[in-house]
Order: sequence, then structure tokens, then C-alpha cells
Amino acid sequence: MAKQPVTLADAQKEIGPLRQQLIQWGKEYYEQDQPTVEDYVYDRQYQRLVQLETEFPELITPDSPTQRVGGQTDTQLAKVTHEIPMLSMGDVFSVEELQDFNVRQQDGLPEIDQLAYDLELKIDGLSLSLVYENGRLVQASTRGNGVIGEDVTANAMTIKDIPHQLSEPLSVEFRGECYMPKASFVKLNEAREANGQPVFANPRNAAAGSLRQLDPQVTAQRELATFMYYVPEYEKLGVTTQDEALKRMAELGFQVNPHHRTVTSTAELVQYINEYTAQRDDLAYGIDGIVEKVNDLATQTALGNTVKVPRWEIAYKFPPEEQSTVVREIEWTVGRTGNVTPTAVMDPVQLAGTTVSRASLHNPDYLRQKDIRLGDTVLLHKAGDIIPEISRVILAKRPADSQPYQIPTECPVCGSRLVHLDGEVALRCVNPMCPAQIKEGLAHFASRNAMNIDGLGPKIIEQLWNKKYVSDFADLYRLTADQLLTLDKFGEKSTAKLLTAIDNSRHNSVERLLFGLGIRHVGAKVARLIAEHFGSLPAVMQASADEISAVATIGPTIGDSVATYFANAQVQQLIQELQAVGVNMDYTASPAVDTTSEWNGQRVVLTGKLAMFTRNEAKEWLEAHGATVTGSVSKKTDVLIAGEKAGSKLQKAQQLGIPIWNEQQFDQAMKEEQ
Ligand SMILES: [Zn+2]
Repeated sequence: MAKQPVTLADAQKEIGPLRQQLIQWGKEYYEQDQPTVEDYVYDRQYQRLVQLETEFPELITPDSPTQRVGGQTDTQLAKVTHEIPMLSMGDVFSVEELQDFNVRQQDGLPEIDQLAYDLELKIDGLSLSLVYENGRLVQASTRGNGVIGEDVTANAMTIKDIPHQLSEPLSVEFRGECYMPKASFVKLNEAREANGQPVFANPRNAAAGSLRQLDPQVTAQRELATFMYYVPEYEKLGVTTQDEALKRMAELGFQVNPHHRTVTSTAELVQYINEYTAQRDDLAYGIDGIVEKVNDLATQTALGNTVKVPRWEIAYKFPPEEQSTVVREIEWTVGRTGNVTPTAVMDPVQLAGTTVSRASLHNPDYLRQKDIRLGDTVLLHKAGDIIPEISRVILAKRPADSQPYQIPTECPVCGSRLVHLDGEVALRCVNPMCPAQIKEGLAHFASRNAMNIDGLGPKIIEQLWNKKYVSDFADLYRLTADQLLTLDKFGEKSTAKLLTAIDNSRHNSVERLLFGLGIRHVGAKVARLIAEHFGSLPAVMQASADEISAVATIGPTIGDSVATYFANAQVQQLIQELQAVGVNMDYTASPAVDTTSEWNGQRVVLTGKLAMFTRNEAKEWLEAHGATVTGSVSKKTDVLIAGEKAGSKLQKAQQLGIPIWNEQQFDQAMKEEQ
């Protein structure tokens, strides 16, 4: 921290740019969920501003970040007024500062000998308010500016651990933290990087960006979770301490973080801080500090709040773990979608429990903004406690002959010219024959959520590629035992095992193939929705972008992507080959089914306009009774159920001699099943 200025003129000079910088960082943090600096940097500069304003109160301006509770509400979401303001917390950065705070607090309460504190982990998420009426969740909102928040009720309804109905008919507001577990954060950023979208800086920003969505379906796919920790009107719960309040909330059905502890001495306080400073890397969610709350709720009320923060609680923020090291090389790797990603290779250093020598630089823009060069000494930290990331270059240590890093213009693997697709930060190799992309694509095709071919990992694929046995997905199904026996460490046993795994994958329900093809924006869940709706791959291929977009939660981006993919002649050729080698093209997955039904195992096609029930109801009933409902008629179809105005499918079924039922026959059969 800079030293205290001696004159008003000095302070004036420093305070203007400092305030503007903090306002800008605040915007990035609160409105765009895309901070450009570490929290620690922000917090420190903020403290500096407080220090200057305390010294020279005449320099305080109404727009100063110190005069507002953090956060603005500039999104399109509806606004919510918090009847009881949602304040942010004051913070301290050392145990000494925390002890000073406690001494001041205790001084204000001469009638109490020793305060009891409830200590909780400070979850790295965003504050959430949940209002229940008669036990039903009626409103969820973000903090916003503390007085006006954003209505995220529909979004919160999609978060699995938020109860829609409490076990008691209470009308109470609960507050807590909405967060994204570390594993989900890593997965989300990997997917965003592959799709050429900017990555989230940390789990908190990912949680905020996911909760503050106009479309609840986006939130639903983001794997958010909550820990509730506060009841403003605690009397309604009949509790007198924070510890009791937490226990009550857990009983009512909320997720409450189990690591809280009541303490009455500084020694216990320090012990708790040390324990969780050591354990923080092992937790499944990010924490950025410890929250200390006065345990007795009546004493909390007596202490009250300042304009901005409560006097009864304070956050102790962990110091960041940082290490310096030297960048030796920048590697460029080509992903499955052609996304070319830079990685910094550095001298190995110990950082937050692991040895780190590589850090993703995400995309060329990121690399340019940070101006990272070969030979630079850089500061390294772990974003969200997990992912090694370069904080900044230490310019003072930059070699005199240093040159800006030249971003490659050609694919490091196939040499074709790299491009930026519309609106993407990612650099891409768009050569469909790029070996790096094909190999990555094969690994994805074989992966567990796709075709699930056990034993076909990247190393085997590399060999199969080098020996020219495999150049596309269909080739996998033409592999012979003789070929596999030539691979490293492959004997009779491993050969037979892999051939069986490949053969089994022929019979997968088609959503696995649809995901395995690696179509942009089509994840495993989306693939299943599409497959379920259309029933077969040929039906998906015939569907227009609009028809695909119209399926449940699928929007135009996915619709366009799928339609464009299947319009490609090479793709159509590939699908024909896959069909020729016996890969199943139908949707055959079905949840909990009645396998004793007459319909079990039957392949049914629905066509025309049904009058007695919707197409979906018919389909659901059939699937629940073990039938497979497909979108197109083939020799394998067992029965066609035809409503009014049935067209080409009816004709085809007649040609193939497949039994055709009308709706009344189907209705009768349904009744007989019950
Ligand atoms: Zn390439």
C-alpha cells in the first residue's frame, strides 16, 4: 500500500483516478460478472480509498464506491425491493485487524463479559434472498444494490437444493449464498472455451452469471447450489442464537454449511482460521475467508448496522497464494472444435498444495491483454482455488531484449490459416481434415458420455491414426483383430476386449451418437432432448433449424448448428457409412419401464393428428410400457399408429406391410393394459 499522503493536494491527485478505477472494476464485477482484477487487488485499493476519505472527508463525493452498498442492477431482470436491506459485510485482512474489530465491538457492550461468536466459511458465491409464504417459495432475489435486487425466482426454482415447499407453513425470508461447486465451474469453463466463449474468472462470477439469466433454462443447466445462513426476522423461527438458526434452517429443508462453529476465545478463533486456511483447497466449493458473527441474535440487533455494513459480523479474507516463476514457452493446442488454445509453460513452482508448471492463457486476446512474453517473470495464483492462472507480468523483471509475443497465424498441426469466427475470442483451425481435430474428435466419440467405448483412449487413437487404420468414426467399426494386435502392449485379451466394446457401442441409443459426433453447442443433455423428440437420426437430419429450435429448451443457436452440420455432404456420407457398419440410429433409451407389457420391445411410429391425446402423451405412455417410439418407418417398425391426415409415413408402412392401427384401436389397447 502507498504511504499516507501528507498534504491535501497529494490526496486530491491520488483520489480521483483511484475512485474511477474502483468504479470501473465494480462495474466489471457486479454488472458484467467479468472482473479484470483479483478481488484482493480490489479490496486493497478500496481500503486505500477509505483511508484517504477518512483523512480528508472533504474529498468524499456522492459517486464514491464507499458511499454505496456494492452492486448495481442493470440487467433486464425485474426489480425487487428488499424490505430489510441486504447489506454487504465489512472485511479485514489479518488476524490482528480481526482482533482490533472484536475489541471495539466488545467495548460497545460493557454489560457482556465475553461475546460468543459463530464462525462460518465465507462461500465464494453471491447473496440470495428466498421469501416463503405459508411454506411456499414465492420470491428469490439477488442483493443488487442492497435495497433493490433482481428477481430470480424462476431461476432459483431450477436449483435442486432450494426447497419449493418447507416442512412447516412459515412466512419468512431466508438469506444465503448461491454458489457453483469447483467441479462444475471447471466443466463449464472447459465447455465455454471449446465454444469460443469467454471463460468465467472464478466460481463466484460463474454463479452470478448463471443465476442472473433471463432464461431459467440456462440456469437449470449450470449446476448451482446453495448454503443458507441468515434469517433477518429470527423471532419467527423461535430461535435466539445464530447457531440455533442454522440448525432450524437445516431442519426446514435448506442446505446449511456443516463447518460452522461457536467459539468464545481468541485462541479458538485463530484455531478455526488456521484449520480452514489449510483445508480450503480440499473443499468441493470455493471459500475466500471466514465470517465471524455474534452468536446471540438479540445482541446482533443491539449492535445494529452502520450505513453500509452490520456491526455484528465481519469477514476475514484469506491472503492470496501467489508465486513467481518464468515463462519459458507458449504452446498452442488444437481442440476437437478446431479451437486453438495457448498454454504458458513455466519453471515448476509449488502453489497451494500442488506443483504447477502450466497455465492456460485461454485465447489470443487474453494473451495480448496481459502482454505475456517468453522470458517474463510472472505472478501465478489459483483461480477459484483450483486453476493455475497468471495474475500479471512483473515488468521490473522483464529482460531488456524482450519482444511482444507473436500470435501464430497458422494451425500448429496442419498449417492451415487460423481464423476468428463471428464474435468469438477463440482462434480456430477450420480445416475439417486437420489431424489434431480428428484425433480429438475420435477421443470424444469414444468417451463415456458419448459412445462409451471402454479402452479407446487418446493413446490408442494416436496409434490407430499413425498406422492409418482409422481416419473417421466409421473406421472404428471396421477395425480387425489383426490390426489391433499390432498396437503397443496389445495381446489377444485386450484386442478381444476392445473389439467387444466397439461392437457393443453399435447398439447404443442414438443420443450417444448425436453427442459423440461433436456438433457445436450440442452437449449430452441437448443430444438426449433432440433424440427423444425426433426418435431417430434420419428424422433429426430431415428437421429444419426451426423445428429443432422448437424442441423444449433448445434455442436458435443449437437449432442452426445442428441443421448446418447435417446439411454438409461429408457429414451425410459419414452417417451413411455409420449406418452401413451397423450403428443404431434410433432413440431406444427409456426411463423406468413396464417390461411385462405387451408393448415391451415394440418399435412404434406415431403419425397424423391424434384427437384423444397429444402425440407426447401417447409417446410417454408407450415408452413407459417398454416400447420405443421412433420418428421414421423402417422394416424394423412393429406398428404404425396413424391419426387423421397421415401422410408419407402411412404410405411407407403400407408399402412395407407394417401393421397400421387407428387411434381407437390404440385407445382400446391402452385400456386393456390397465
Ligand atoms: Zn489444423
